[in-house]
Amino acid sequence: MAADLHVHSTVSDGCLSPCELVDLAKQKGLSAIALTDHDSTEGVAEAENRGRDMGLTVIPGVEISCEADDCEYHILGYGIDLADLPLLDRLARLRESRHRRLEQIVSRLAAHGINLDLQRVREIAGSGAVGRPHVAEALIERGYADSRAQAFQRHLNRGRPGYVPREKILPREAIDLIRAAGGVAVWAHPGWQLQSAALAELVGYGLWGIEVWHPDHSPQRVRSLLDLVVPQGLHLTGGSDFHCAGAGCGLGGCTATDAALAVLQEAVRRLSKPCL
Ligand code: AMP
Ligand code: ZN
Ligand code: FE
Ligand code: FE
Repeated sequence: MAADLHVHSTVSDGCLSPCELVDLAKQKGLSAIALTDHDSTEGVAEAENRGRDMGLTVIPGVEISCEADDCEYHILGYGIDLADLPLLDRLARLRESRHRRLEQIVSRLAAHGINLDLQRVREIAGSGAVGRPHVAEALIERGYADSRAQAFQRHLNRGRPGYVPREKILPREAIDLIRAAGGVAVWAHPGWQLQSAALAELVGYGLWGIEVWHPDHSPQRVRSLLDLVVPQGLHLTGGSDFHCAGAGCGLGGCTATDAALAVLQEAVRRLSKPCL
């Protein structure tokens, strides 16, 4: 058994609803998933309820895109209190800024002769956190690209006409928010970016762990990450970063061990005990 601790749903830019993700995880024989939508915890309750019915552990999670000194850091929060107002408020503001960004993306594309209907992109995104994958779907629908990958390459990647950066928050703020909401903060898919200076800085802010097992990390990279982070007493997590079938490695294609899951569960249980 294994746990997939990095999963996106239709609440952000994934293709399956929280319930469908739980059902698929069960079919695949996973012991747990963490729902880690971009800038939103709004799918977690639905996944938890379904998890209870299906006998699958669901860890509440979120993924927040951060930036410091021109470097992007994705920070995962696990075990957060879903009613924590400062976190909910900040995430809601990030989602609002995604809507403003969508308007800018659509008008930048229009200035390059690529005409999308803003309302249609909003429809594709539904009520969740709108992102470039939703614009990519609209581009495909209108024949401006054949695939998501091509839509990004031609229109949406940095340096392309439709590129508009997201509002990003400092890693320190994300880690503070997650910890204040009773959760633990994990550096997602650090790849080759994990230099000791950046790591020391995030650890100084209260980083709890590193996402070691991720589809972007080769086996050699996993080994070197383990060599770097285990001696520092950091904890280990992993997940597939699953968005949609047919893209990436599939749900459960990259996982954390059940031992790593148990350490995470114990940490969030301890943190969420009321202060006496
Ligand atoms: P956003 O948060 O709106 O900037 O969109 C980022 C999301 O777009 C990532 O989480 C991925 O799901 C997706 N993405 C980023 N780059 C690509 C790419 N080259 N091809 C397909 N999907 C991508
Ligand atoms: Zn995504
Ligand atoms: Fe990410
Ligand atoms: Fe992700």
